[in-house]
Amino acid sequence: MATTDPTQTAQGDPTLVAFCGLYCGACPQYKRGKCPGCAENQKAGWCKIRTCCQDNGYATCAACAQFAQVTDCKKFDNVMSRIFGFIFRSDRPANIARIKAVGVEGYADEMARHGRQSLRRGKRRD
Ligand code: SF4
Ligand code: SF4
Repeated sequence: MATTDPTQTAQGDPTLVAFCGLYCGACPQYKRGKCPGCAENQKAGWCKIRTCCQDNGYATCAACAQFAQVTDCKKFDNVMSRIFGFIFRSDRPANIARIKAVGVEGYADEMARHGRQSLRRGKRRD
């Protein structure tokens, strides 16, 4: 009888996809109950990406048609996000591209299945 690996069947929660494309459902802080996730986190009012998406009614920057490339947006591609991206090797533009490709639900499922908060920098995706 085949055994089932729970990580292979994990279903994601689209409400835990942050406005910038990170998947809060796989974040250690969320899993420890220390953070409710980006959308519910009232302490995240400093974030321009979050405020911009909320003001426009977008689930994520993937819904935004203002820029051909999300990296052209100075709110999205700011100094802090580049520093964090470098330290944590996270590729947030790739997250947004993946959400555009498979939708927020499909993306949440993928990230939950792989237990990932973000796609990694420097990985080939073809
Ligand atoms: S960078 Fe902004 S949108 Fe992304 S998780 Fe943090 S607070 Fe949320
Ligand atoms: S890409 Fe920039 S302008 Fe568009 S929703 Fe995101 S932060 Fe706002």
